[in-house]
Amino acid sequence: MIIVLKSGSTQSDIDYIKEKLHAKGLKVHVSQGEERTIIGAIGDERILREAALAAYPAVEAVLPILKPFKLASRDFHKEDTRIKVGDAIIGSDDVIVIAGPCSVETREGLLEVARSVKKSGAKLLRGGAFKPRSSPYAFQGLGEEGLKYLAEARDETGLKIVTELMDPRDAELVDKYADIIQIGARNMSNFNLLKEVGKMRKPVLLKRGLSSTVKEWLMSAEYILDEGNMEVILCERGVRTFETETRNTLDLSSVPLVQSMSHLPIIVDPSHAVGRADLVAPMSMAAVAAGTDGLLIEVHENPEEALCDGPQSLRLGDFASLMKSLRSLAKALGREL
Ligand code: PEP
Ligand code: MN
Repeated sequence: MIIVLKSGSTQSDIDYIKEKLHAKGLKVHVSQGEERTIIGAIGDERILREAALAAYPAVEAVLPILKPFKLASRDFHKEDTRIKVGDAIIGSDDVIVIAGPCSVETREGLLEVARSVKKSGAKLLRGGAFKPRSSPYAFQGLGEEGLKYLAEARDETGLKIVTELMDPRDAELVDKYADIIQIGARNMSNFNLLKEVGKMRKPVLLKRGLSSTVKEWLMSAEYILDEGNMEVILCERGVRTFETETRNTLDLSSVPLVQSMSHLPIIVDPSHAVGRADLVAPMSMAAVAAGTDGLLIEVHENPEEALCDGPQSLRLGDFASLMKSLRSLAKALGREL
């Protein structure tokens, strides 16, 4: 918050305001210009409003300091950002569903999933070729071979592709195949990687970090926007809490919260949030009720055999049923799916 004092204010005016701010536990910076004195107050701005400083006679104006995530903020851009990928518009009245396996494993398996989710109404296909695994001994992905299978699935079904980039050294390669570049939760604070995708001219799906606040997440988006790439899609995928029955805790409040703070679209990934297939459908419904712009759902042709995230992956038939329910819900809410 910046407090601008009227010209002719005295030292006792300044001291009075400083005292008020210090009493609220705020840090105070005084800048005395030739004509004006400006007092910067650093701390919780809600406390400042209570201080009702604007009513003090020596105060000319009380102005908020522009948010640290300027470009991502609604102050900067009032209208919702809409991102067009193929014939899907993310950030519109349509609920956009992105579905597919955690990782690309086999050509046949991927094609089977792609055909099936397309039939069920998914608009985009997901699949990792570079996997951020917690263990270095776990399956790390097929690399370029996986990207080629994704491209083949796109050619056949028309579904656009979402795939993860983990390393700036693979940026050119992933850019060659992907329609949306995913930045995983573990890389939300990998600022060099964020700058790299900021230089690309391709939508970026930015997952929320494992233990990141909404503000930190928006600051990460800011890194991408600051490089000139304005097409950022935020993805809520749950955060770590004390709960152990679910893999993470799905913070659905972040959907309306982000929509109030930012113009960027936000989608929800219930699969990584809950970590178990039986909870994916109810949380998908809840996410649509909360106003999400879309969903990212893991689907596998044979979850028992999946090399990655099998327990949270939906079977093809279960995904088809979920899509039916989602369609009815979207309709009731005046949206399309
Ligand atoms: C994924 O989408 O497969 C993934 C690894 O997700 P997250 O980064 O959210 O854990
Ligand atoms: Mn996964």
